[in-house]
Amino acid sequence: MRIGVPKEIKAQEFRVGMTPDGVTELVAHGHEVVVETGAGAGIDASDEAYAAAGARILPDAAQVFDSAEMIVKVKEPQAEERARLRPDHILFTYLHLAPDVPQTTDLIASGAICIAYETITDAHGGLPLLKPMSQVAGRLSVQAGAQALERAHGGRGLLMGGVPGVAPARVVVIGGGVVGENAIEMALGLGADVAVLDRSPMVLERLAHRFGSALTTLYSTKAVLEQSVLDADVVIGAVLVPGAGAPKLVTRDMVSRMKQGAVLVDVAIDQGGCFETSHPTTHQDPTFVVDGTVHYCVANMPGCVPNTSTYALTNATLPYVVRLADQGWKAALGADPHLRAGLNVAGGRITCKPVADAQGLPL
Ligand code: NAD
Repeated sequence: MRIGVPKEIKAQEFRVGMTPDGVTELVAHGHEVVVETGAGAGIDASDEAYAAAGARILPDAAQVFDSAEMIVKVKEPQAEERARLRPDHILFTYLHLAPDVPQTTDLIASGAICIAYETITDAHGGLPLLKPMSQVAGRLSVQAGAQALERAHGGRGLLMGGVPGVAPARVVVIGGGVVGENAIEMALGLGADVAVLDRSPMVLERLAHRFGSALTTLYSTKAVLEQSVLDADVVIGAVLVPGAGAPKLVTRDMVSRMKQGAVLVDVAIDQGGCFETSHPTTHQDPTFVVDGTVHYCVANMPGCVPNTSTYALTNATLPYVVRLADQGWKAALGADPHLRAGLNVAGGRITCKPVADAQGLPL
């Protein structure tokens, strides 16, 4: 199969759909790869590196789309990319179609086979192609929190780990899933005093087992949550209710009673945020202050570390790309119901129930 990797064109997107190592792997399986010139610039992967791995470099996106049978990307296709899709194309990328009517309309009209990273499932009920970005965001949340705690950034002027003789910062993580677990690991690594709140006893048990007495695990009742937030120097919001907006767990009133210069990192902001006072921010201007509390609410956190994020993403996507290329989409999806769950639009129809339901369209 011929696989095409265009340069990402969404604003502030520096990741790329495939690394040179991914090209090597596909070429070893007997496939051809075409890469748009400059596609890897955001991760310091030169055209020469892709060519050395066996790719053919093409001068523009039009030629990549023209010659490829499968397009591998990171972000949902932008309008000019959607206009290039054909019925014989396989598109493999993040789509996030449910709230996006114009994109859904165009993908239906294209007739292409559109497989979304974010709806592929695994045997444990997880979302294996969302997980790497949650890992990155969880780890970054502690870096962001540590920086915001500095006085010059509006914070309390505390060092996360303290020093011998001086207490460390108190970090409270709400939600102990993928983001939460990675945040806990980083915060403990910096020497902070860390507590996690979750509503799932199983999650708390797993975290207690993994981190032992270094971590305080708390069942998240209203009262426990409020006391934890008021005692915290940094609160990391990492909850997810699948298929729903994030619950507003920390109210405006609680925020007004927090310590002056405390920090809220709302990782769940991409689902609306779990603090009542949150609104989305960007990497250019990541924080704002409400009642003396510094809020960090960047909606695409992994975007600021495109190198790490691209490698983390493509480690997870490459096995699926190889299977789709080796077997063709029909056989690959037929053999694996979890990969089949990724199919969102095919041959001019929506094939994913949540997307159809969200837009009131037939399956
Ligand atoms: P996950 O499903 O692995 O974990 C979510 C956890 O929240 C679960 O353990 C669940 O039990 C817990 N939870 C749900 N309701 C709760 C409540 N009321 N109180 C306490 N805990 C509760 O999800 P994840 O992959 O860790 O993602 C967490 C959030 O981070 C999601 O909203 C996701 O979209 C977001 N995210 C944001 C970025 C970004 O750049 N801002 C990047 C990646 C993920």
